[in-house]
Amino acid sequence: MTSKLQAVRGMNDLLPVASPRWRGAEQRLQAVLARYGYEEIRLPLLEPTELFARTIGEVTDIVEKEMYTFLDRNGDSLTLRPEGTAGVVRAGIEHGLFQGQLLRLWYQGPMFRHERPQRGRYRQFHQIGAECFGSAEPELDAELIAMTAQFWRELGLTGLHLQINSLGSREARAAYRERLQTYFRDHHAALDTDSQRRLETNPLRILDSKNPDLAALIGAAPSLPEHLDAGSRAHFERLCTLLDGLGVAYTVNPRLVRGLDYYGRTVFEWVTDALGAQGTVCAGGRYDTLVEQLGGRPTPAIGFALGLERLLDLLAATGIDPSVARSVWYVVSTPGACRMQALSLAQRLRSEPDAPTVLMDHASGNFGKQIQRADKAGADVALILGEDELATGTVTVRLLRAARPTQETVPQASIQATVNRLAAENCP
Ligand code: ATP
Ligand code: MG
Repeated sequence: MTSKLQAVRGMNDLLPVASPRWRGAEQRLQAVLARYGYEEIRLPLLEPTELFARTIGEVTDIVEKEMYTFLDRNGDSLTLRPEGTAGVVRAGIEHGLFQGQLLRLWYQGPMFRHERPQRGRYRQFHQIGAECFGSAEPELDAELIAMTAQFWRELGLTGLHLQINSLGSREARAAYRERLQTYFRDHHAALDTDSQRRLETNPLRILDSKNPDLAALIGAAPSLPEHLDAGSRAHFERLCTLLDGLGVAYTVNPRLVRGLDYYGRTVFEWVTDALGAQGTVCAGGRYDTLVEQLGGRPTPAIGFALGLERLLDLLAATGIDPSVARSVWYVVSTPGACRMQALSLAQRLRSEPDAPTVLMDHASGNFGKQIQRADKAGADVALILGEDELATGTVTVRLLRAARPTQETVPQASIQATVNRLAAENCP
């Protein structure tokens, strides 16, 4: 007996019913990225395991327990990328892209993390992310964050709130880390096992715990902003002023830390309460030392990644359909001699660069049946080619979604003009 083959747990198929919404959302986001000057970079899904260990951090959830790591046939340790930034930095160094000028890059595609699958949390999920290299100024942070705000405007989303924080310099974080360690050691028994483990390795991560039982303890913990160095404080204050000036509303969340070690100074998240526990749709921050740490020339940078599953879920929950509408014409013809004409008419129509989708029926069946199938296929226009039309070189244009029955027989050369005119007459 053979067992039924199924997709890997936590990895989803994207079916045709859903793909127009995905594509619509992606296209809108890409249009915004283009307006801000971001250029696309496409990278391998597999990278050397060491890349992620050295960037994301050895004692993060991702590297400790979420990576899909395996030895290939040569015995090299490879990992399916759990996020995009490490690869972008690797490629930037490898191809000499960091030359001191501003470099704006975006990427898109699947990421892999072995997490417990649930709503908004999958083992293969998709991100669109952007990274900007070459400026340490808070103006860049403001521009990048304002771009993410523009994403939501473009999509018509209003339920997302921006939280920001500063993680300070490496030295400031080290001092804070000690304070935090002392505090949580004093409350060791109240911590869950995950946090007890993090206490020694990465105590800042306790602040990021999703365990509601720890909320009060975390709420009373020493606060990061008090430990900020002067430079980071000034940077953060300037960022707040700039966001105010741009009209981007935000909340300062002093407990906001990120799950990856490479962040310093600015961090931010866009969150919603509409998605249950997985409410962060987009998250990012500064990583001014990462390029240098991987062997590149010192290059300050900031970036973010947006989770497409969560974004699409939020759009659906808000009743927004981002699909880009496409008109569909359906060629209906009498089986036999007319079919050749129908095929060549469809072929000719599709050769126009701004052509609609042109479908046709390859089955037999009378006009009525074909029109029914056209309707089912979502067509808005039927182009009817029968014996009469064949004899006169014409076609009958029928609107399928019009309020009243509308059709007209015209020369084949004026199909588009006829569709436009009939449609205009039909919806004044
Ligand atoms: P979380 O705290 O929810 O685990 P994270 O801090 O691990 O998120 P990032 O690494 O910053 O997330 O990734 C950026 C975005 O990618 C998240 O805000 C989220 O929208 C999305 N994302 C992350 N992990 C997953 C996942 N397993 N499934 C679906 N989307 C995800
Ligand atoms: Mg995570």
